[in-house]
Amino acid sequence: MSRFGLEELRINCLCAECRGRREQGLEAWPGEGAPAVLRIENAQEVGNWGLNFAWNDGHTTGIYTWEILRGWDDERGDR
Ligand SMILES: [Zn+2]
Repeated sequence: MSRFGLEELRINCLCAECRGRREQGLEAWPGEGAPAVLRIENAQEVGNWGLNFAWNDGHTTGIYTWEILRGWDDERGDR
């Protein structure tokens, strides 16, 4: 399984809200009142096509498809 930094995942969150923030030139993380240390409180599979994370900043709407996770991994190559 590929490994990703938590902040990397959170910053690239794919939900409409985070996409909107990025389109405005804002970072999806950290938002206002965000906890100092980012954590995943819960992770669950969504069907058989992706993963949903519940972040400790209360954000739970992002779904990361396996396809996207694989794509990010390919982009990075071996580091
Ligand atoms: Zn999001």
